[in-house]
Amino acid sequence: MPKLKQDPIQRLAKKSVLDLETGCILWNGCTTYGGYPLTEADGKTITVQRLVWKLTHSAELPPNSLISQKCRNKLCINPGHLFVVRKKYAKAK
Ligand SMILES: [Zn+2]
Repeated sequence: MPKLKQDPIQRLAKKSVLDLETGCILWNGCTTYGGYPLTEADGKTITVQRLVWKLTHSAELPPNSLISQKCRNKLCINPGHLFVVRKKYAKAK
């Protein structure tokens, strides 16, 4: 029987847990050295937040931008908690 191609969102959901208190979807899989969720898409390693953004917006992330979490939880991949930050702005801490 041929293996069905798994929906990437389904695949991500399987590796994460919903926190009912905060509404965060917390990643349970691999992470970067810095603690950010990491996965593979099209043979490339990519952060899960970037992939979720791509899938939910059907677009690439704007250049010079990165994704941050409103809830400040590095492991959260809830599309509703993610927002785009300009790199210039993110650096000015
Ligand atoms: Zn969250």
